[in-house]
Amino acid sequence: QAKVAGKNCHRFYSRAMDQAVERRVHLEHELRGAWDRGELSLAYQPVFRVSDGVMVGAEALLRWMHPTQGLIAPSVFIDVAEQCGLIETLGPQVLRAACFDAVAWHRSRGGDPLFVSVNVSPRQLRHGDLPEVVADCLRDSGLTAQCLHLELTETAVIGDETHASALLSKLRETGVKVWLDDFGTGFSGLSHLRRVPVDGVKIDRSFIADILRDPDDLALTTAIIALAHSQGITVVAEGVEKEGQYELLRERDCDLAQGYWLGHPVPMAEFQALLCPA
Ligand code: C2E
Ligand code: MG
Ligand code: MG
Ligand code: MG
Repeated sequence: QAKVAGKNCHRFYSRAMDQAVERRVHLEHELRGAWDRGELSLAYQPVFRVSDGVMVGAEALLRWMHPTQGLIAPSVFIDVAEQCGLIETLGPQVLRAACFDAVAWHRSRGGDPLFVSVNVSPRQLRHGDLPEVVADCLRDSGLTAQCLHLELTETAVIGDETHASALLSKLRETGVKVWLDDFGTGFSGLSHLRRVPVDGVKIDRSFIADILRDPDDLALTTAIIALAHSQGITVVAEGVEKEGQYELLRERDCDLAQGYWLGHPVPMAEFQALLCPA
């Protein structure tokens, strides 16, 4: 009996696995032409200075409007793009579009230019000619280097820290700012800040989520802010969903914040309208 069940079980799992692989291959195939078909676009989520609530920039977040499946989240397709290598063409396209969009914001609004923050995948960092790509995008769009922020996750720099550090230094020399994204979720944690040259860290939203209730998360957030500041590093809090979280972050001297309470990611046109209300 058990043996039969085990056998069936095995068969069931392998069929489920086949289906998963098939779906993935299919997704990969569709993703290949998605940019050219105009199915991919960038949404922008505003980033605010905590001390006075002024909007200072926005993060570019990729969206895939699939013709039959509707909106597909980046958590579903970025991994696919990363694993099949498609990110190496997609990444530079995103970077370029974001630079041009940021120049358009400045044209329509004037005042202090907003920064645009672009997520860069580990693979772009490892295989790409990132400094050249960045330089091309800046030159062609006319965006000031200081207005471009690159967000890297810890996994992108772990393993090959010498290579990563050299690359990051090269990028930072041009004036581009480098941020460590989802900070606190990786293995290395705070010790990393001493070895990898970055301009800022983005505290992962899983920590911000509970700072009102969990003293440990608040303590950790406070410690990250203090340590970062002691090294001249800027701190962004991600995933601010409540006013109370924002107040607490202001009390703890956090520099920048983003989250649903402050503003959702919105399409370019909507973001533009936000900058220049009619
Ligand atoms: P991330 O860079 O950490 O981006 C923040 C994510 O948190 C975004 O999800 C954003 O919509 C979401 N978020 C913002 N505020 C809140 C909040 O208050 N509460 C909650 N629950 N969530 C909030 P999204 O857009 O689904 O992106 C997911 C991840 O996909 C990003 O995480 C980033 O790692 C990756 N990603 C997005 N666009 C790109 C891209 O162009 N290139 C690469 N390589 N990765 C990208
Ligand atoms: Mg990010
Ligand atoms: Mg993040
Ligand atoms: Mg994330």
